[in-house]
Amino acid sequence: MGLIRALPELLVNQIAAGEVIERPASALKELLENSLDAGARSIAVDLHEGGVRRLRVVDDGAGIERDDLPLAVARFATSKIATLEDLEHAATLGFRGEALASIGAVARLAIASRRASDRHAWRIACEAGEVSAVEPAALAAGTTIDVEDLYFNTPARRKFLKSEATEHARCDEAFARIALSRPDVAFSFAHNGRRTRHLPPETARARGARIAGDDFAAGALEIDVRSDRIALTGLAAAPGFTRPSRDAQFLYVNGRFVRDKVVSHAIREAYADVLHHDRHPAFALFLEIDPALVDVNVHPTKGEVRFRDTGSVHQFVFRALSRVLADPLAGQKSGPLSKFGTVPAFQSLLAVEQPAGRYEAMFATVVEDERRAPASEVAMESAMLGYALAQLHGVYVLAQNAAGLVVVDMHAAHERIVYERLKASLGTASIEAQPLLIPATFAATPQEIATSEAQAATLRTLGLDVSPLSPTVLAIRSRPAALAGGDVVELARSVLAELAQYDASSVIQRAQHEILSTMACHGAVRANRQLTLDEMNALLRDMERTERADQCNHGRPTWRQITVRELDGLFWRGR
Ligand code: ADP
Ligand code: MG
Repeated sequence: MGLIRALPELLVNQIAAGEVIERPASALKELLENSLDAGARSIAVDLHEGGVRRLRVVDDGAGIERDDLPLAVARFATSKIATLEDLEHAATLGFRGEALASIGAVARLAIASRRASDRHAWRIACEAGEVSAVEPAALAAGTTIDVEDLYFNTPARRKFLKSEATEHARCDEAFARIALSRPDVAFSFAHNGRRTRHLPPETARARGARIAGDDFAAGALEIDVRSDRIALTGLAAAPGFTRPSRDAQFLYVNGRFVRDKVVSHAIREAYADVLHHDRHPAFALFLEIDPALVDVNVHPTKGEVRFRDTGSVHQFVFRALSRVLADPLAGQKSGPLSKFGTVPAFQSLLAVEQPAGRYEAMFATVVEDERRAPASEVAMESAMLGYALAQLHGVYVLAQNAAGLVVVDMHAAHERIVYERLKASLGTASIEAQPLLIPATFAATPQEIATSEAQAATLRTLGLDVSPLSPTVLAIRSRPAALAGGDVVELARSVLAELAQYDASSVIQRAQHEILSTMACHGAVRANRQLTLDEMNALLRDMERTERADQCNHGRPTWRQITVRELDGLFWRGR
């Protein structure tokens, strides 16, 4: 008597569903991919309760024949490939034939479909693996898929679902990724009866603006580099239009959104020269590669790929992108910026920064300290970094000390000071919060709303009280006292974006310093701010008092000494 037996089909499908249909957003991704594979020109998504209660996708694609309907919900049944050869050259998004079977095993699935040549539509249902008979239905040409009560028969799975807001945000994100990849197709998205996105067929840049923001699309550089069996196209942010987090990085390989270390690394390297280290590039890049040179069948959700020759892919992406970034300001901007076009440090600093009236407020405490110990009373020798002479190009503070000239990168230095201050106050308990008399409100994305709810406690330890005022508006009621004076909305948004990348609190613990460093960057004085001599001296004194002040949070030096001897050498004095 053997012990091994074949599992019943329903259980097999439920197990598969665990991989393919992790949450409503994964079901939505599969359905959208099916609609695109069917050649749809217009796709409407309608969610209820984060997609758990109901998820509907309506398309105007080719439709499914009556006799194919039972096969559509059968596992490993697909119209997209027939042989191993086909698999190796698959140009469709789907090909594993398991999405609908998996959904049907863990939800109430209904498919209504009509091919253009059919006289009417046909409908089939599949509930917890029970497939109904095919019945006539009424529908315009295309396919409508309804998924209700996801995981109703697998409660253990259901428990892993997050709040409605989080599941909604994930669905919105999955939708955005796909919509960005097909600007030629019309999309709409509704949640609980409210339509939140409406995207007509449009240009890639226009779609980029809707999904990744106007500021991104307006400043993005167009890329179109083609080689024999590989091409890179799309939009990449000019170094001046970067983000505080990785929230606007869209990478597609053969039309499919993927996470890929090789390509991501090549992109990072290409930006390394022109990007301030705490900023992240925004991009929507499409790598098209001969299907024979890439394996997309690595993972059931196809979120990863494997390149046959990673080295050449890396090299191609790096070179294609570097070439475009090498002249980032060409045709974008004129004026004083272009003068520094060849000096990376200037590009990133000058382009990223905008003047903001936050310096005085930021430095209020330091300047006060300084009044207590006026510069004139401190002996020259004791002030290691000396005394300020002037500010250079809104970026550097020049000071004189006993050894000669001191040049300080004011943003980098101040960032370190704020960072160390935040770290010290977090070490004691939580960062001291300063309540706002009038809460600051802003129109938030579903992802931001979800993160504010899921991470409320963490936000409070960081001195931020952020909570929803309505389904689309967040209110900030307190800010870190150490960061008084900055743009609190911008600060909250970048912290939310950062937190959205981390799920468990253990990860947040480890990521805390990264988050503080984001906050510090926001609190730090921006370039192009005119400083008074008092303010410059206050910065120098603060640097002397701060641990690790010689390097910014990213390891770059914050100041340099140029000795009188070195200056003499420049002028051949004493030779
Ligand atoms: P796969 O996409 O890997 O083939 P699925 O389970 O997602 O597997 O879909 C099974 C089959 O159902 C597809 O191969 C396709 O023939 C058909 N199908 C699914 N969705 C649609 C749709 N929206 N329009 C037309 N055909 C569809
Ligand atoms: Mg599919």
